[in-house]
Amino acid sequence: MKLLSVVVPCYNEQDNIADFYNELLKNESFFKEKDIELEIIYIDDGSSDNTQEEVKSLNEKDKRVHLVSFSRNFGKEAAMYAGLQKSKGDYVVIMDCDLQDPPALLPEMINAVMDEGYDSVATRRVSRKGEPPIRSFFARMFYRLINKISNAEIVDGARDYRLMTRKFVDAVLSMEEYNRFSKGIFGWVGFKNKWIEFENIERRKGETKWSFWKLFTYAIDGIVAFSTTPLTIASVLGMLCCFVAFIFVIFIVIRQLTVGDPNHLAGWASMASIILFVGGLQLFFVGVVGQYLSKTYLEVKKRPLYIVKEEL
Ligand code: UDP
Ligand code: MG
Repeated sequence: MKLLSVVVPCYNEQDNIADFYNELLKNESFFKEKDIELEIIYIDDGSSDNTQEEVKSLNEKDKRVHLVSFSRNFGKEAAMYAGLQKSKGDYVVIMDCDLQDPPALLPEMINAVMDEGYDSVATRRVSRKGEPPIRSFFARMFYRLINKISNAEIVDGARDYRLMTRKFVDAVLSMEEYNRFSKGIFGWVGFKNKWIEFENIERRKGETKWSFWKLFTYAIDGIVAFSTTPLTIASVLGMLCCFVAFIFVIFIVIRQLTVGDPNHLAGWASMASIILFVGGLQLFFVGVVGQYLSKTYLEVKKRPLYIVKEEL
């Protein structure tokens, strides 16, 4: 008998809680056949709707349903971490509540870890059907960039929908960083991993919780968490500027000593441009350094990733 923990982060998903449960249980005969017991952990990430009540009423009917309710919204990363911590299963799977992670893929994923010897099975959507084109464009740019500047493998279109063995979960849990970027963490811990691809599915009910701005700052978090290349770029660019300035100085001194400067008052416009440009560059990279510093600051404070209000 093996235990499978299903971790479901939910933020204002009252209409999806029961749907998700029903859809998941369509695999029940497969679970029986494989001698798998189930535990479903809904993480209520500080929802302001009836998410918590919905889970509670499910729990009354079915004791395999559990709830961890946060004192406020801590974000999906914290919700996933809390779920992994609470899970007791030999296998753990993380799934979105809106049914964008099709439970119908579960049998294939379970077979891969039980029979084919994989430590984790990850999913990736091969299309971005139904997503605003501008969002897809920036997402593609982000994945191209981060894979160039980071050595953790971060796959385009990868979802957080992933089935893991206990060994894999413990490795993920051992990374206790405050600034969590799971897409990077999953790649970073290694192990033998299988990818399953599927067509994008639009969310069942409710609205996406990710605004463009939220995604943008999440992308920056990802870069800061998994690459220090921006800092290297700052140093290299600084050295380059010094080198160019040095050549200029030599050029000006030699010109002064030989032909002199016939129109020494001209050129203020180009000078102003250069000062503005270099000033802008300096501010930009002070900002980049600030990003790393601020993350370090939060990391050093060792605040908890989430605070639990209620648990079932
Ligand atoms: N979610 C969460 N906390 C948040 C935002 C989202 O737990 O602060 C959950 C949400 O309820 C859903 C999953 O994370 O189950 C994915 O969110 P969503 O569907 O809004 O993102 P999208 O699929 O549009 O990328
Ligand atoms: Mg979704």
